[in-house]
Amino acid sequence: MLQLDALVREATELGTPAASHNRVIPIQALSAAEAEVDRVLTICNSCRYCEGFCAVFPAMTRRLEFGKADINYLANLCHNCGACLHACQYATPHEFAINVPQAMAKVRLETYVDYAWPSALGALYKRNGLTLALALTAALTLFLALAAARQGSLLQTPAGGNFYSVFPHNLMVSLFAPIFLFALLALGLGLRGFWKDVSPGAASAAAVADAADKALRLKFLDGGHGQGCNESDDAFTLARRRFHHFTFYGFMLCFAATSVATLFHYLLGWEAPYDYASLPKLLGLAGGISLVIGTIGLLRLNLQRHAMHGDAAQQPMDRGFIALLLLAALTGLALLPARGSAALTLTLCLHLGAVMALFATMPYGKFAHGFFRTAALLKWAIEKRQPSNLQLGDD
Ligand code: SF4
Ligand code: SF4
Repeated sequence: MLQLDALVREATELGTPAASHNRVIPIQALSAAEAEVDRVLTICNSCRYCEGFCAVFPAMTRRLEFGKADINYLANLCHNCGACLHACQYATPHEFAINVPQAMAKVRLETYVDYAWPSALGALYKRNGLTLALALTAALTLFLALAAARQGSLLQTPAGGNFYSVFPHNLMVSLFAPIFLFALLALGLGLRGFWKDVSPGAASAAAVADAADKALRLKFLDGGHGQGCNESDDAFTLARRRFHHFTFYGFMLCFAATSVATLFHYLLGWEAPYDYASLPKLLGLAGGISLVIGTIGLLRLNLQRHAMHGDAAQQPMDRGFIALLLLAALTGLALLPARGSAALTLTLCLHLGAVMALFATMPYGKFAHGFFRTAALLKWAIEKRQPSNLQLGDD
């Protein structure tokens, strides 16, 4: 009888958390897209056929239920390779209609919107598309061209191909630095909210190195077997992984070119224009060519992609971002042959307009996926080094 009383008392205390416990765990309602991931992963967790494909499945098996933060984490860990859709015996026409990549893609967009900073601008993710990208580039190019025309330099050949005789160095810095710094701040603060919610734990050096390795090699675009993703059909291809690499490393080389030129300018007092054999020019040339190859390849794959792989609502955002990168790279490369001609100023206006549009749309566009995915990879690298709370296996 005494034992029964004790059990009743314990149950009553557990039922009144506010009175007896300091910690109340909030339960957050799932959106429709998150509820679909919850449904899909609950079935996958019983099946587990796809365990070797990517990090999503081993991370899933560490959970018996999926809260909002878990779902956001797993959705960003998914690289949308399509392998688990083409392998799934419960995909349409089965009544379960399992489609992991599509369910994850829909949640990813919600993640970007939910964690956007400032939150009021989160809705821009849904409006960021090809039309906005091109219209913004055109408007900024026009603005710069009018400014050059007012000085009378629009159709003149700048002496020695010197850009700064059209737009002085300090003016360019004052135009670009605030936009770029705001983009970094907005992305950084958004990411901080996501990181806090997924409760990652402390990152060891080994976990950071592991996540960096997976992110830089795009390990999970290899389909788990090394032969690559599914794109338009059941065939495996490494094309998306390779074009992503061309694009990412091309962007980084262009960024390095600008950084080296900035160091030359401020530290060594060496002002542009630089020789063709100079480090900024060589880095910029290699980066520009790599970006053109990567973005054209990604655009082609995006247009041919199997309709069931992704979220159709995100295609304008994907294409807008790819188009801006391509435009920035093409106009940057076009500056070289235009250097000694009257077309230089107009080409420069177009290049600066495209780069400015790219920076302006960065915090509310596809660029964010790299940040959130890297954070999810780091969480996985930390998590897999910890014992599983479920203690069902020997991991
Ligand atoms: S995607 Fe399909 S085959 Fe793969 S684990 Fe889930 S239910 Fe199983
Ligand atoms: S689509 Fe690819 S990366 Fe995403 S869960 Fe399936 S196998 Fe993993």
